[in-house]
Amino acid sequence: MRGHVAVLHGFCTELGVAKMSGFVGKYADELVKNAKYIGTSGKGILAADESTGTIGKRLASINVENSEENRKALRELLFTSPKSLEYISGVIMFEETLYQKTSEGKPFVEVLKEKNVIPGIKVDKGVVELAGTNGETTTQGIDSLGVRCSEYYMAGARFAKWRSVLKIGPNEPSQLSINQNAQCLARYAIICQENGLVPIVEPEILTDGSHDIAKCAAVTQTVLSAVYKALNDHHVLLEATLLKPNMVTPGSQSPKVPPELVAHYTVQTLRRTVPPAVPGILFLSGGQSEEEATLNLNAMNKLDLLKPWTLSFSFGRALQQTTLNTWAGKKENVAKAQEAFLARCKANSQATLGKYVSGTATAFASQSLYVKNYTY
Ligand code: 13P
Repeated sequence: MRGHVAVLHGFCTELGVAKMSGFVGKYADELVKNAKYIGTSGKGILAADESTGTIGKRLASINVENSEENRKALRELLFTSPKSLEYISGVIMFEETLYQKTSEGKPFVEVLKEKNVIPGIKVDKGVVELAGTNGETTTQGIDSLGVRCSEYYMAGARFAKWRSVLKIGPNEPSQLSINQNAQCLARYAIICQENGLVPIVEPEILTDGSHDIAKCAAVTQTVLSAVYKALNDHHVLLEATLLKPNMVTPGSQSPKVPPELVAHYTVQTLRRTVPPAVPGILFLSGGQSEEEATLNLNAMNKLDLLKPWTLSFSFGRALQQTTLNTWAGKKENVAKAQEAFLARCKANSQATLGKYVSGTATAFASQSLYVKNYTY
């Protein structure tokens, strides 16, 4: 109890709400501060936490072997890219990367911190099928999560990511999948907060399917409502969380719609479901091309509607694709690849302010990055 009082004395208005919700852990002020910083307008997250298998597929696409050395080389290229990190507030890493160093021997965590970038860590252990469903899934990794989070905190991580996956089908998402994934996300979130990590809550609704945008909006609204009910039930401090949702779009087998329509449906859905206590919403790119993801984000930020959270990016594929292709695993291409990365970081930063002017697209930037039934 004494700890709670100390935290409250040392801190300001946001924690009034935390006090009322009944949970103020010893990390509360630090968590709120870090969540707010990650959601700083003009900055976003680089998702570089592809599992060893997923990064292997990326490397294979440029004919590069999936060795630890090559995985590290790609991450080093990104993290040391001149000027790019000015537009980045956080980087999500895979466990292996969290403990790696640059070729000059500097820990990646230090490289990021020196550039005012908060190190983050993916803590889920992938998905498994829910019995009796049509291929729906739940995410693994709750067992021992507290111990792992405290180790990651000691290694310098200050936020975490957990990806839940839902799909749209004739009878999907099922109530079982909605409930199970909401509960898992909430349990994950509170364990993170108890151990000093800001949880990124990611209920990704896959784009697979031939549904229209209105269907995606309806499903996203149902799923997010369940997620915020569960987060509150688990006494999660919402001021110390971030949301990583899908944008609301038509299914991958349906015709595309203009960014203004994506913006309309996405912002409307978020306004109906995400409490203003949440400081930032940082989208995944979900198979959109680099340029498409940036234009959609830009259109949302241009919308003249009250948006009580910042709307930003936490892109994996849509930040890295041109960079990866430009690099092609060759040392002599590193500088050029870093320029490509800077261009995407800058474009997305402008999109968080609604100030992106289309035109930096290269052939790669317009290329669809869709992968059926995507695993991370
Ligand atoms: P994409 O932006 O490539 O969809 O991935 C982001 C991510 O972190 C998924 O969990």
